[in-house]
Amino acid sequence: MDIGFIGLGKMGFPMARRLVEAGHQLVVFDQRREVVDQLVALGAQAATSPKDVADRVETVLVSLPSLQASLDVATGSGGVIEGKKIKRFVDLSTVGSHMAVRIHDLLAINNIVQLDCPVSGGVGGAEKGTLAVMVSGPKADFETVKPALGVIGKVFFIGEKPGSAQTMKLANNMLSATAMVATSEAVVMGVKAGLDPAVMIDVINSGSGMNTASRDKFPRAILPRSFDFGFATGLMVKDVRLCLEEAKALGMSMEVAEAVGRLWEVVIREAGAESDFTSAIKPIEQAAGVVVGKKG
Ligand code: NAD
Repeated sequence: MDIGFIGLGKMGFPMARRLVEAGHQLVVFDQRREVVDQLVALGAQAATSPKDVADRVETVLVSLPSLQASLDVATGSGGVIEGKKIKRFVDLSTVGSHMAVRIHDLLAINNIVQLDCPVSGGVGGAEKGTLAVMVSGPKADFETVKPALGVIGKVFFIGEKPGSAQTMKLANNMLSATAMVATSEAVVMGVKAGLDPAVMIDVINSGSGMNTASRDKFPRAILPRSFDFGFATGLMVKDVRLCLEEAKALGMSMEVAEAVGRLWEVVIREAGAESDFTSAIKPIEQAAGVVVGKKG
C-alpha cells in the first residue's frame, strides 16, 4: 500500500526500510535530510514536509522523539492535519494516553482517524521485524493497516478507546525501566562483594532472576562497556515520567515505580538525556565505588 513515514530515527529508519523491502510504496520525511536520502536510495520517495506527505498518501506513520514533535507533526502549521489525501495518522511513538487523546481530538475535527500504535522491542526488533506493535483506535482502520504493521512486528489490538495502546506501552516500559536499574543494583552488589559480573549474568539468565536487562542489555552493552544499545536515556525517562503521570491521573500510587522513577532522574541528571539508557548502571557503580565489566 501507499504509506507516508515521518521520523526516520533509530526506530523509524529500520521500520521504514522493512516496509520498502516488503514492497510498500513509501513517501518519507525527516528533519534530517541525510536519512531521507538514504531511504530514497532504497526506493522511497522524498517529501518536503509532513503536509506534503499527507497530500500524497491516505495512511501516515510517524516515529518521533517527543510529545511536542508528535503534536507538531500531526496538528501544527505544515502538519499532516493540512494534508489533502490523508485519512489516518498512525503514531508509533510513545506519547502517553493524554497526548494521544489530544491529538486524536484535534485530528477528528478534520475527519482524520488517529491510530495509537506504540511499539516495543528496541532497534534490534525494528530491524528484524519482531516488535510488539500495540494498536488502539477504530477497528476498521486497524484492519486496513494491519498487514503493513505485520511487516514490523507482532500486532496486538488493544481496544477502540483512544490512548489505550499508550497505557499498554507505558506498563511495558515501566517493567523494562525497572529491570534495567534493579539488575544494575543486583550486579553492582555482587561485584562489590567480589563476584565476577559475567558469571553473575550467566547464573541470573539460567535462574529465576532472568529479565530483559540481564538477557539483552548486560551481554550486549554493559559487560563490554559499549553503552550503545540504541535507546536514549531521555526517551526512557520520558516513558517513566509518563507512566507515573498516568497512575496519578488514575488516582493510584505505584510504590515500586516511584522508586524506579527517582533512580532514573539521577541517571538523566548525571549521564545526560543523549546517553544510551544502559548508562543507568553508572551512577549505581559510582555510589558503590566499583566498575562492572568483563573479567579477563
Ligand atoms: P530518534 O531520536 O532516534 O528518532 C527520531 C527521528 O525523528 C529523528 O530522525 C529526528 O530527526 C526526527 N524528527 C524529530 N522531530 C521531527 C519533526 N518535527 N519532523 C520530522 N522529523 C522529526 O528516536 P527513536 O529512538 O527512533 O524513538 C522514536 C520513538 O519510538 C520515541 O517515542 C521512543 O520513545 C519510541 N521507542 C524507541 C525505542 C528505541 O529502542 N529507540 C523502542 C521503542 C519505542
